[in-house]
Amino acid sequence: MKKLTIIFCAAIALMGCNKKQPEQKINYNVDKFYDLEVLRYEVPDFESLTLKQQSLLYYLTEAALWGRDIIYDQNCRYNLRIRRAVENVYLNYTDKQDQQFLLMEKYLKRVWFSNGIHHHYSEDKFLPEFTREWFVQALQATDTQLDDEVIEVMFNPALMAKRMCQTDGMDLIANSAGNYYGEGMTQQDAENWYAQHKDTTAEPLWIGLNAQLVKDEQGNVQERVYKVGGLYSAALEKVVENLTNALQYTENDEQKLVIEKLIAYYQTGNLQTFNEYAIAWVKDLKSRVDFVNGFTEVYGDPLGITGAWESLVNFKNIEATKRTAILAENAKWFEDNSPTDPQYKKEEVKGVSAKVITAAILGGDCYPATPIGINLPNANWIRKEYGSKSVTIQNITDAYDKAAQGNGFAEEFMLNEEDIQMHNTYGSLTDNCHTDLHECLGHASGKLLPGVSKDDLKEHGSAIEEARADLFALYYIADPKMVELGILPNKDAYKTQYYGQMMNGAITQLVRIEPGKDIEEAHMRNRQLIANWALAHATHNEAAIIEKDGKHYMQINDYEGLRLLFGELLKEIQRITSEGDYDAAKQLIETYAVKVNPELHQEILARYQKLNLAPYKGFVNPVYKAYIGQDGKVVDVNISYDEGYVEQHLRYSRDYSVLPSVN
Ligand code: ZN
Repeated sequence: MKKLTIIFCAAIALMGCNKKQPEQKINYNVDKFYDLEVLRYEVPDFESLTLKQQSLLYYLTEAALWGRDIIYDQNCRYNLRIRRAVENVYLNYTDKQDQQFLLMEKYLKRVWFSNGIHHHYSEDKFLPEFTREWFVQALQATDTQLDDEVIEVMFNPALMAKRMCQTDGMDLIANSAGNYYGEGMTQQDAENWYAQHKDTTAEPLWIGLNAQLVKDEQGNVQERVYKVGGLYSAALEKVVENLTNALQYTENDEQKLVIEKLIAYYQTGNLQTFNEYAIAWVKDLKSRVDFVNGFTEVYGDPLGITGAWESLVNFKNIEATKRTAILAENAKWFEDNSPTDPQYKKEEVKGVSAKVITAAILGGDCYPATPIGINLPNANWIRKEYGSKSVTIQNITDAYDKAAQGNGFAEEFMLNEEDIQMHNTYGSLTDNCHTDLHECLGHASGKLLPGVSKDDLKEHGSAIEEARADLFALYYIADPKMVELGILPNKDAYKTQYYGQMMNGAITQLVRIEPGKDIEEAHMRNRQLIANWALAHATHNEAAIIEKDGKHYMQINDYEGLRLLFGELLKEIQRITSEGDYDAAKQLIETYAVKVNPELHQEILARYQKLNLAPYKGFVNPVYKAYIGQDGKVVDVNISYDEGYVEQHLRYSRDYSVLPSVN
């Protein structure tokens, strides 16, 4: 439910609560290649943590780094072999000014950014720009072993072309390069297996969450469980070792229980233990330090069942959390007053705990590209019985804001000087506010009717769920309640959020799509669905795309009318979710969310290209050093911000890589 990625960057960072400047001179814009830019984030207030908290954080960050190889292998079974071979050539090839070598360096940077050979967002395989002939001789010159089969996967555009296939009517598993299903598995095989093993009890196990499904020689489908002693054992053993080290520095018994349960789950692969872990995690509300570590989000699996390994270690931003605490206290009011039908509302809104956090490290599927908000756990029954935790990651949004200052984007794509002014004044504040509403109230709102499952919407489930959370946020950010609660300063501030969402959803997010391609990613589909549906239903010209001097812009004529449209769509999408109405979901997505107007697309790409910006951002992590005393206890933890992108990845590959190349 996370992966709320940044939509466009505010020009001015308003949220000034934690701007303590570290002594180190920090380079925020680290690297840029293809459509990708690498930024650096700060960890403000790290120094204000106690030594015990810093020590806990340190071991959790180590546990986060040890899972890196897992996500490479989950993304495609060739990834580790390719990464290791290319890294070896990179380190040992003598002529480092060779044009072919420089092209290979760019390729390697891209592999690191995507945790593999497919674009992290579009899912398309990217091809090397260096020649196959050069590469083969470079492998020989550096004594690097790489099978022809793997070289063929790198260079042949037809092989493993898509990390995840979402094309209606195709076999979603046979046509996906992702490694959640073994060779020879079909969608039918997987669906049959899941249907046979599905847990239909009231407190179900999430069957398939932590396993690869494979076919044995007799053609029987089997699970290979991710656990110590199972698939990915070598990496998980290191994760467990560091979690065990972390145990001695826990802040309280609730937090200790969380880590103990997680260790037990990694050691056994037992999904009942995973449920106990998730419940303990939701209940741990007092600790300053918190973390996610495990097989979590299911966007990478075409069937949305198996979790990608990720980690995010963080601590509470106490000042900014006051904002989300207000929303959480009023959760019931928001649920009661939403435009959805009463039969789809939650009678009781339980434990929506929301906080603003400072990320301390990003790992696995959260690195280098990272979400700005997270809402977990994903199991609906746990959310209903025990609540969920929702976070906004403010030091990451601050880093985006810093990187975007004065980049010319708003000036190029916003219609009026007034829109730009509003954006500069309220953009950052309302972005954070939208994230809070989306994560803390949106995903947590509403209920499913008896007998309906979250899987009923199948391949459209993720996009519909994101639209539901976004619409909830959009509907309420314009509500007078936001001013009354002291979250927004006046009744007009929300307008820049409406403008930004409409502009982005219908126009500017197209910069992320290659010419001729459809929109596939769930969050992008969600945003275009909302914007294009609103435009199609704007019978009183509430909003429209207009042309001025040969360029197209979003124009909003009636903000309150637009709010009513958002409310209307929210009502319908809540109905679809509550009833599991697959046909209606499919109809909405296919009508509004997938297809791109080719002329508009071309114009937007050309305008964007002139700005020389990269549409996708990722991060380098800070470096933590722990000093250990003679009794084995941590005596000091040091943080620094000077490691480059290439250095960081080479270090991770050298120091945190224990998985075999073929798993
Ligand atoms: Zn979301």
